[in-house]
Parts: sequence; structure tokens; C-alpha cells
Amino acid sequence: MTNLSLTVEESGLAILNFDRPDSPANIFDAKTLDEFAIALDQIENDDSIKNLVFTSGKPGIFIAGADIKSIAKATSYELEAFLLQGQELFDRVEALSCGTAAAIHGACLGGGFELALACDVRVASDDSKTKIGLPETMLGIIPSWGGSTRLPKLIGVDKSLPLILSGKQMAPGYAKKKGVVDDVVPNETLVERCIQLLRNKPQRRSLRKSNNIISTTIAKHLAKKRVIKQTRGHYPAQLKAIDVVTAAPHRSRSESLKAEREAALQLAESEATKNLIRLFFLTEKSKKSGVEVHQPVPEVKHCTVIGAGVMGAGIAHWTASRKIPVLLKDINEEAVARGMKTISKRFEEAVSRRIFTRSEAAERMSLISPTAEDVPMMNTDLVIEAAVENMGIKRKIFAELASRTRGDAILATNTSALSIEELAEAIPNPERVVGLHYFNPVHRMKLVEIIYTKDTSPAIIQACLNFVRKTGKSPVLVRDSPGFLVNRILMPYLIEAGNLFQQGIPPKKIDEAMLDFGMPVGPIQLLDDIGLDVALHVADTMESAFDERMKVPKILRKLVKAKVLGRKSGTGIYLYDSSGQKKVNPEASYFVTGAKSMTTAEIAERLSLLMVAESFRCLEEGIVDSADDIDFAMIMGTGWAPFRGGPMAYAETIGESYIRERLEQFHDKDSPAYEIPKSLRK
Ligand code: NAD
Repeated sequence: MTNLSLTVEESGLAILNFDRPDSPANIFDAKTLDEFAIALDQIENDDSIKNLVFTSGKPGIFIAGADIKSIAKATSYELEAFLLQGQELFDRVEALSCGTAAAIHGACLGGGFELALACDVRVASDDSKTKIGLPETMLGIIPSWGGSTRLPKLIGVDKSLPLILSGKQMAPGYAKKKGVVDDVVPNETLVERCIQLLRNKPQRRSLRKSNNIISTTIAKHLAKKRVIKQTRGHYPAQLKAIDVVTAAPHRSRSESLKAEREAALQLAESEATKNLIRLFFLTEKSKKSGVEVHQPVPEVKHCTVIGAGVMGAGIAHWTASRKIPVLLKDINEEAVARGMKTISKRFEEAVSRRIFTRSEAAERMSLISPTAEDVPMMNTDLVIEAAVENMGIKRKIFAELASRTRGDAILATNTSALSIEELAEAIPNPERVVGLHYFNPVHRMKLVEIIYTKDTSPAIIQACLNFVRKTGKSPVLVRDSPGFLVNRILMPYLIEAGNLFQQGIPPKKIDEAMLDFGMPVGPIQLLDDIGLDVALHVADTMESAFDERMKVPKILRKLVKAKVLGRKSGTGIYLYDSSGQKKVNPEASYFVTGAKSMTTAEIAERLSLLMVAESFRCLEEGIVDSADDIDFAMIMGTGWAPFRGGPMAYAETIGESYIRERLEQFHDKDSPAYEIPKSLRK
């Protein structure tokens, strides 16, 4: 055996250690499963074994789950065999006559956690690397190696459903609170604690939670109602999981395992699951891609953020929370204090959500040095400018930075749409200038666009890729061009939503159409959230670059002129009051000039096709290298309907000739935005 090793001590303690060679992770691939079966043969035939503890030889991973590659490429016959094999192995673990325990240090996810669930005892290390959960529904499947069957029996249906439906990865303390692990101890004493618990609680298998049929039936209906409301039925895995999990306590184990398999097999055929699994691989790919470099790649050990507003404070918080010291600079004490208040609030939230302990949060917060003075920046490796969106101001800041920083420091801007190349002209060495475009709110949005110009050096690009990954964000490389990638694709959509509103379509109808399509927020609501003035600013940049195709609707200018600025001002296209209820703002509707009507389906089709068309143009122009980059960026940067796989995957689903036909029908002198992109013309 190479992927795992079994040692049996004279005391009767057996350790089965998972340690896949030449890989940072333990996963249940075909070889590991086969070797696991061999190890179980030995254990079942060895009467000297009193207790068996499962351990991992990896520093940060217990077992990360099943091999997703095997699932992705399996035929349904192969998938069924794969599911059966795992279920049978874990059934054998549960049936062992010796005591069994999982000593969990590092990621214990999916199949890894399902193995732990088949044991008598689970003990987790108190390390921040330890994360426990069943993330299968995030991939469009359900836990099918006994997880949907054993978890409700262990902690009850009511506590299992939120964990399985959200795919939440629990920190050790939280996992103990939920009852999924028996104890949390330092890594060094994991095995010892497992043995102690096995000795003290030999009858643990009888200590299973009872689930009453009335409460599970109610839980099922409530969960379904909630999921349908949240997902509009686009994520079938959640609904299947509810069926299997709520029925599990009332079925025999073999019936419930069969239901798990049937659900997984059905789900694996669906378009949504295929798209979600592809998204998993795109995420993996974004952790690895790089550029060809022939010079040393600088490492970012210290960062300066210019501007302590919404984005600057967000970037400083995020960077320090990943243990990189930050100098945070703004023009006056008040602005700096406002930024630090926001940051402190964010750390407080992290403490209340158990992401950091109080002392961890305090330690990370102390890595931020706020200043309103023109201090030297010679120790900084990367400056991220997040001042106001104004080329004149940004150029002035960059010119000053050129003289105040080391010649090899990276100078980055978080501009939403301004030209990086034009900005780089402000300094003598443009090869160290890039865009690092974070999304709002920084602590939630995973994507960072790294924007390079014709002058940016490959070493600087690679350094930015390394920095973005080191801070736990997902990078995408984008060529400098108005709006870069995400805003470029989003803007025609937001502009057209504004046009439809101007033409008399009710804002709520526009938003509902896109929520039904699968967007996380409707476009009118998004305009209000971004701020109508900020949106207008970006839209103007886009209009000057793309002319008629991105003509800013008059209503947007009129609203900004009338100081209707969106959620931040309390009045946008919607009105916001303290109760959280939103109503359409009559002051905004006053500027509506038409009385057009349109079906929800047509609204969704028009708006989504504009994003698809713009995606094709971005590919034609080489803004990014591949359709994969577009789909990944749109999903991670905007929450673009993940089950549809992103605009390019969606285009493939509906077909190029259909897209061409519809764009042709929508395109007229009043709607120049629907021009067919070159690569889609016949
Ligand atoms: P903001 O108005 O909240 O903050 C800007 C801050 O910059 C203010 O605190 C201001 O005092 C400070 N500032 C102005 N001139 C300065 C100077 N010379 N030196 C130091 N500080 C200076 O703006 P924001 O929303 O944080 O946007 C910042 C940048 O990020 C803009 O370029 C914007 O386009 C971009 N951006 C914004 C968002 C968003 O959703 N808000 C998203 C992505 C990118």
C-alpha cells in the first residue's frame, strides 16, 4: 500500500494513516479506495486490534473528499460503482468490532467527513486549518457515501439540513457546538484523546439522536419552502438533499444509502451539476496559472493602501487579515479615522462569526498603520491606490508615489474603468504599474482582476498573481481596456436595464426577471447599491470608449442631477427606510418617458444576451485568454448564475444560431446595443 499505512501496536491500538505520496492532499481516488479495502481486510481479520484510529500524514489536510475528477468523467454506470464502493467501505468501518475514531487535523470534507461519521468517535484539532463539512451540494450533488444518512442520525435532521444545504465548512469549535465532533484538542494530543473517549464510551453507537416523524416532516416542508424562495428552484441538489436527509432516520440504512445513490446519479446528469463541477475545476485552475518570467519575482511582504474609503478600507482590512502589514493613507485625519472604524467593525464581525478569536483579530488589526501624513514608503513592496475615480487625481498620486517608493515597488490602482496605460504615463517606469481591481464588498467578493498593460513586466504580473492568491482571493489576468472584463460585460446590461426603466418597464419587474434568471441581485437594485453617481461615472467611461453601443440612458443623468444617488442616500430608483422594505421611488419614476410593456421572459433574454454578446467581443479582442476566464470572472466577481456556468457556457447551452437570431430581432436604431459581435456573424 502506498496511499495509506496500517500499524498495529502491541497494546491493541491500530493506526490507519492516510498519506497520498507526491500530493499535498489526501483524497479518495480509485487507488486510495482499493487500498482502504485491503487495509480493512487486514483489520477485520486481526483480533488483537481493540481500537482503530484514522489519521493523516498531511500537515493541513485530513481527507479533502472524493476525487472530483473521477466523478466528473464517470459514466453513470461508473459513478454508481464509485458510490457503492465508498458506501460499502464506510459500512465496513461502522461494522468493525473494535472501537473506531477519526483524529481530524486539517480539512475533513465530503468523503473525509463521511468516513469520520462512520466512526464511534471524532476528535478535531484546534488548528485553524481544521475545517469540517459536507460541501457536496455546492457541486450540485449530495453527500452519498453515507453522509446524508448518518449525519441526521447523529445530530438530528434540524441541525443537519443547514450544514448540508449550505455546504458550510465548520471550524473545530463550531463543529463541537453542533455535536459533529466529540472534542477539540491540540493536534499533538489528538490520538490520545481518541483512545480516552473510546475507552470511556464503548457504547457510543447507541447514543444516536432520535428524530420524530412529525418534526422531520415539518423540517422538510420548511426547508423546501426556504430553498425554493432562495434559489428559485435552480439548484436541484438542495431539494434532493432535503428529501434524502429528512427521510434517513425513518429508513433502514441500506434503503437510505440507496436513496443517496439514486439522487446523486440523477443529479449528475443535470446541466446545473455539470456547470457547478466545472466551476470547481476553474477555481482550481485559477490557483495555479502563471506567466512566463525571466526575472526574479518580487514578494509582497508589506503593502500600502492609498485612500481609506469604501474600497481602501476593505482592501487594507483584507490584506492585514491575511497577516500582511499595511500602511493606510488618506488625505486627512477624519478620512483615516472613518476607514479605521470600518475596519474595526469588520474585525468585530469576524470575531462574532468565529472566524478569528478576539486576540487574533486584535493582532491583525494592529498590522494596519493609519496615517494622514506624507510618510516615507521605502519599505513597501506594493502600493494599491484606491482614491477617488478621477484620472487627474490618480495621476498626481502616481507621480508622487514614483518618488516616494523604492524603484522596484509595484504600483497598483483599484480603478473601476480608467485606463491603466494612461495612468502609467505619469511615472518614469511604467513596467511596474498594474491594475488590481477588487470588488465591493472586498471581504465577500473573491475575484481580483489583475490588469496589465503592454509595458507591465511579467515579473510584476506574477508577483501580483502570487500576492492575490496568498491573500486567499482568486485572480484573473485581464488586458488593459475600458471597463477591463467584469465591468465591460456588466455595463451594457446595467445600461439596458436603465433604458427599460426609462421606457416604462417597472423596476421590480426588471429585477424579478433577472432574479428568476439566476442573478443574485436584480440590475436596478444593483445600480442603487453601486450608487447611481458611481455607475454613471463608469458608464461615461464606457460610452466614450464604445459610443452608441453603450449610450448612457438620459434617466441616469437626470437622477444623479436630482441627487437621487441610490441606497447610500436613502433614495435611489427604490426608496429605503429603516424597516428594510423597499418601494419604487416616485421621484425616480417621474423621469420615466415611455409606457412600454414587456414579458419577464423577454426582459431576461434581452439583458442576458447583452452580457453574452459583450463576452464574445472580449474574447475577440483578447481581453482575456479564454471563455473559461470569462465564466470564472463573471461568477466570482458578480455572482453570475453559477448553475448556468457563466455567460460563455450559457451561450453554448442555448446555441450560437439562436443568439444570433435573437440579437438580430432586438437590434434596431433605438437599440444599437444588440449589434451582433463579429465572431457570431454568419
Ligand atoms: P470612496 O469615495 O469611498 O473613497 C475614496 C477615498 O480616497 C476617500 O477617503 C478620499 O478621502 C481618499 N482620497 C482622495 N484623494 C486622495 C489622495 N490624494 N490621497 C489619499 N487619499 C485620497 O471611493 P471608493 O468607493 O472606495 O472607490 C475608490 C476607488 O475604487 C475608485 O477608483 C473606484 O472607482 C474604485 N472601485 C470602487 C468600487 C465600489 O464599489 N465602490 C468597486 C471597485 C473599484
